[in-house]
Amino acid sequence: MSDYKEIIRQPETMNWFKAAMGIKITRDCLLEFVKEINQACYDDIRKEIKHQHGVPESIVCNQCVTPNVLPCDPANICCRRKRGKCAFHEIHMPRNCPNKLCNEICKQIVIQHRFRWKQNSLSFQGPTWINTDASKWCSEPWHIFKCFVSKDGYKDANQAECTDFNGIMNIIYNCEYFKTYLQDDLTKQENVCTKARDVGREVRHAPAMSMNSQDTDKAIDTLEALLQSLTHVNHQVTAKTAVDKLKQKSKRG
Ligand SMILES: [Zn+2]
Ligand SMILES: [Zn+2]
Repeated sequence: MSDYKEIIRQPETMNWFKAAMGIKITRDCLLEFVKEINQACYDDIRKEIKHQHGVPESIVCNQCVTPNVLPCDPANICCRRKRGKCAFHEIHMPRNCPNKLCNEICKQIVIQHRFRWKQNSLSFQGPTWINTDASKWCSEPWHIFKCFVSKDGYKDANQAECTDFNGIMNIIYNCEYFKTYLQDDLTKQENVCTKARDVGREVRHAPAMSMNSQDTDKAIDTLEALLQSLTHVNHQVTAKTAVDKLKQKSKRG
């Protein structure tokens, strides 16, 4: 095996590093955007619940934990049974929120999830209930966004800042609330989000931590396309700055 100093100097290693830095730049840029949309999404959920059920936005609840608001249903991945019993609902049973709120927030999260209908007996691809804490939905809306991130590796990611690129991408793609903030049509099988997510995966799983220059350029182009797709006016400047940084990473920049 070559000396590690030699490996670092190899062009393929540098290419991989450029792509990895591109992911970091993109993730840092998306962070503020996703935080702002998180609050907007919560506010809209509350407006909808007020509209449908008359629960004022000033009412908050911190008394319901996730098993309280989620029906015990074998279609729900949390409710897989051990020896005939549901471990998820062992301590806290489903009940109606005393503030008439948390069950409705739960329903709104399902409505926002892109893959809410794709369920079968083996896997339910809807919201990830296992990592969220419903008692925090009103006080820390990031717990609402945790329902859109995959199960593994995000249990303690209770803030945007603790969430990696893959998690941020899953939120933007899986939560349909984002569709108005991106120019690309996210209902297409291949779109700016799925492509960026694939880039993240390729870089993360590159076994030799090396990439050829074409793949690096493609990765940077994909990340640029994602940032250029953002329509939110508050984030145009930061997105443009991030794109400029990405361009410096590519050979053409
Ligand atoms: Zn259950
Ligand atoms: Zn409640």
